[in-house]
Amino acid sequence: MNFKVCSLFSGSSGNSTYIGTEKTHVLVDAGASMKNVVAGLGQIGIDGRDLQGILVTHEHSDHISAVGAISRRFHVPVYANEETWQAMESKLGRIDAGNRRVFYNDMDFYIQDINIQPFQIPHDAADPVGFSFSYKNKKISIVTDLGHTNSKIIKSVMDSDLVILEANHDANMLMAGPYPGYLKKRILGRKGHLSNEDSGQALLEMVKGKVTHVLLAHLSKDNNYPQLAYQTVVDILESNGVQAGRDIQVDLTYRDRASNFYHIG
Ligand SMILES: [Zn+2]
Ligand SMILES: [Zn+2]
Repeated sequence: MNFKVCSLFSGSSGNSTYIGTEKTHVLVDAGASMKNVVAGLGQIGIDGRDLQGILVTHEHSDHISAVGAISRRFHVPVYANEETWQAMESKLGRIDAGNRRVFYNDMDFYIQDINIQPFQIPHDAADPVGFSFSYKNKKISIVTDLGHTNSKIIKSVMDSDLVILEANHDANMLMAGPYPGYLKKRILGRKGHLSNEDSGQALLEMVKGKVTHVLLAHLSKDNNYPQLAYQTVVDILESNGVQAGRDIQVDLTYRDRASNFYHIG
């Protein structure tokens, strides 16, 4: 009866998340080689042939590089909004017409027994989205690749049990680091990526709702490290009276391996 979630890998180098129930198995993004995605699924006992959908947040290559190959190899439907389809179609290669599925932002839909709600997020892509997934009375949300949060996003996810939330960079590390100026500006911009600090501040809002579990995600390899992301977020929470481990469980995702396999409910 459980609602299951596992980050197969997460970071600027590639992203894929598994969401499932007893009878439904979907991926959010598949941005690495097909081999890596299949290996990640294998670690949690899922075969590529079990997949009933790949949901795409946006067309950046760290989210779509294996989408076309997986769809063709295992005959899996691909779900994206129309703008994202237009932006990514030429990069995916041939997709069977029957596997080309379109969703609309703010309109929920089902894949088998999982309800899915896409909502717009601010990022420098055609029409990027986050997703909330509901099964029975449990809810999981994924919010990565966004330059800032707003009240609509917070409202969409604050009744989730578990949130996968971007903690991309430490702003000081980014500023002092080797990236060229235009790239620093892009990452720090309103349509770039959430910093560790932004992530902690967003969580402060989310814990006012139902959120009791967060996985910090999409960590930069060059401008962050896991312990720093964790500590920055926990410090912000605890200096505002929210105790990690008691009020909220804070966990990490990893660039090159799967997170814990969470069973909710
Ligand atoms: Zn990304
Ligand atoms: Zn992106």
